[in-house]
Amino acid sequence: MIKDNVKAILAELPDGVNLVAAVKKRTPQEISQAIQAGVKIIGQNYINEAKQAYTSIDRETQWHFIGTMQKHNVRKSIVEMFDMIETVDSWEIAKEIDQRCAQINKVMPVLVEINSGREVQKSGVLPQNVGPLIKRLAFLKNLKIKGLMTMGPRFGDPEDSRPYFKETRRIFEQLKKLNLPNVEMKYLSMGMSNSYKIAIEEGANMVRIGTRIFGERDY
Ligand SMILES: *Cc1c(COP(=O)(O)O)cnc(C)c1O
Repeated sequence: MIKDNVKAILAELPDGVNLVAAVKKRTPQEISQAIQAGVKIIGQNYINEAKQAYTSIDRETQWHFIGTMQKHNVRKSIVEMFDMIETVDSWEIAKEIDQRCAQINKVMPVLVEINSGREVQKSGVLPQNVGPLIKRLAFLKNLKIKGLMTMGPRFGDPEDSRPYFKETRRIFEQLKKLNLPNVEMKYLSMGMSNSYKIAIEEGANMVRIGTRIFGERDY
């Protein structure tokens, strides 16, 4: 079931689009099945769950942190375990990651999360603040900016996500043109189970899929 789902998704993704399997609430066994079927990148929201699965998973699999970042949860384990943090949305968080990484001589690839829907309660930087934030982050030595991430609405008609994806793509292209030092606009992470096809049409080259691989989560 999990294996068939992964294979079907991998077969339909265009070349150059990276699949991130969103594994929150899944067991290490379920995660292993997805990897056996060809998943190369795991996206995890929760540090404790990541720790449970981490030791049983081969070192070639990449781990992306896709959960809400708070300054107090930027712990050593986050910067040690993860190969990318997709949800950087403030100077304070970025600085904390930078300091933690400096202690272990690591340069952390990060995506800046955009609140493309401008929803008050959502995480992410407001579109108008992305440019100024990235220009500041570019000076942090143990951080490497690799692109942008956005959520968009999770439920409802997937078409409703299109304007958010378009807006994020526009900002992505704008920043790319600036050619800022230490900033590489390479990855555009957007689209989930219900919306990834639309996200790809709008330029996503990284999609984060949970439910379509593992089935419904029971919460
Ligand atoms: C859970 C989650 C996803 C995947 O959502 P599905 O609807 O299960 O595909 C993607 N991105 C983030 C940040 C998530 O937390």
